[in-house]
Amino acid sequence: MRSPLRLLPTALLAAALLAGCQQDRMAGMGGPLLATPAASVSVYQVAEQLGLAVRDTSAVSATLANSANLVLIYPDPAGQVYVNGAPVSRGGPIVRADGLIFVPETLVPSIRRALRSPAEPPKPRPQPANTLKGRVVVIDPGHGGKDPGAISCLGMYEKTVNLKVAMGVARLLARRGVTARLTRRTDLFIEREDRPAVANRLKADLFVSIHADAARRRSARGFTLYTARRASAASRSAADALVRSMATLGIPNRGVRRADFRVLVCSDRPAVLIEMGYLSNPREAALLADATFQDRVARAIARGISAALATSARE
Ligand code: ZN
Repeated sequence: MRSPLRLLPTALLAAALLAGCQQDRMAGMGGPLLATPAASVSVYQVAEQLGLAVRDTSAVSATLANSANLVLIYPDPAGQVYVNGAPVSRGGPIVRADGLIFVPETLVPSIRRALRSPAEPPKPRPQPANTLKGRVVVIDPGHGGKDPGAISCLGMYEKTVNLKVAMGVARLLARRGVTARLTRRTDLFIEREDRPAVANRLKADLFVSIHADAARRRSARGFTLYTARRASAASRSAADALVRSMATLGIPNRGVRRADFRVLVCSDRPAVLIEMGYLSNPREAALLADATFQDRVARAIARGISAALATSARE
């Protein structure tokens, strides 16, 4: 359809603009940010910090495991944590928020102390000349299908820009030997939880969710990197690498910020979310609609991801 937005009154258009990432963020905040104690982490973040995988999670329990350990977490009121069958001091409330279980951050070291080291230490990956070869990255083009994300002041949908850039990033990474997987390749609706689940299942080295911003204020502009509030060092260093590579794009740098987006707190792998710029800002909306600029953004993101992978390979 040709630009139905022009027919909308301004107030409706503003509401439509805010229906993208803003709503996404508010949904995230309405859950974990408001309902959980300040120093709490999701069971996915616990898994990431301890080298475990989330085997199962529901409203009544979460099961985390690796080859030598089984961790069971039950939320309040009868909250309890067991590591290999033995209870672990919980040190604070274990709460459910927005269908996810959150535990006190201080529980992570307690669990760590109780873990057995795997019988055989994992063999170091053979380091090929190309440190990117065989590394797995999941690229998540935000929104899709019935969820358009933000709507550009020029009438374009965020979901479309996200997909164009994400596909470019995946193509560039594949050329460098990275195993790059997309959560969607078409205009498809995917639940927020199902996006990081792809990275969890593939034990990806990195999960990168790609979005574009919108604000009521048309003057708001710039790109932003997000990690979860209690993100791992690997997530934070990936965000730093992406800020450095994206700083070459010539749009303002809003730096690395913390927010418990659903796609971040449901990831047990290192995870970042990119807001490429503001679709509500006329200049950035025009840039993000331009195929040449989309390609430049994709190159910057691929470069940042490559730098993050090269750093984590050396550690
Ligand atoms: Zn978005």
